[in-house]
Amino acid sequence: MRIVLLGPQGAGKGTQAQRISERTGARHISTGDLVRAEIKSGSELGETIKDYNDRGELVPDEIIIQMMRPYLDEADSWILDGFPRNESQAEALDEMLREIAAKLDAAVALEAPDEALIRRLSGRRTSEATGRIYHVEHDPPPQSSEEDPGPFIQRKDDTEEALRRRLRIYHEHTEPLKDYYAERGILATIDATQRIPDVTEGVLEAVGEKA
Ligand code: AMP
Repeated sequence: MRIVLLGPQGAGKGTQAQRISERTGARHISTGDLVRAEIKSGSELGETIKDYNDRGELVPDEIIIQMMRPYLDEADSWILDGFPRNESQAEALDEMLREIAAKLDAAVALEAPDEALIRRLSGRRTSEATGRIYHVEHDPPPQSSEEDPGPFIQRKDDTEEALRRRLRIYHEHTEPLKDYYAERGILATIDATQRIPDVTEGVLEAVGEKA
């Protein structure tokens, strides 16, 4: 199974990719996680990409392609979360797939209105210890350190200003990929304001139909 998850920040791509990975065994490849891990490692590359990440701007295509490529080669069943983000990345993905004689089964777009996304994301906190994602109102971090010691931090790019920039970039550069994949007959769209398990079922059903 090879699928691309499209959708704006806060639509739940990471959550859904993780759930689908658990259900199907497909590898979850998140370019955002790769970017954050590289920055955390303190490497030279991490230094180069830090400012893009913190401002909520896209890291240059060549860098992101070079970072994710080895993961594509390693697994033959995967879910891409956060890649491709623009048409040239989608073309690069097609080229990489041609090289390994593989095809994409589906591109699934998770959809939600911007205001709902901003509400969701400005309350998002990530546990530094476990990587689990919480929401200050809807799914608050646990009080007991046994369950999750934290600390629970807000991503630098989850401030309202960075969020608005990320959404603008999404609408301008990433959303047109819906047409890109619709033209290839592999696009499915899912209402991401539904309950988390319902979105998961919707994605799996859509992938089953397309594959
Ligand atoms: P995300 O967690 O997917 O929102 O990604 C966080 C940040 O990582 C983005 O705002 C970009 O700076 C960078 N990033 C992740 N994926 C890509 C990509 N496909 N192209 C360019 N930059 C990316």
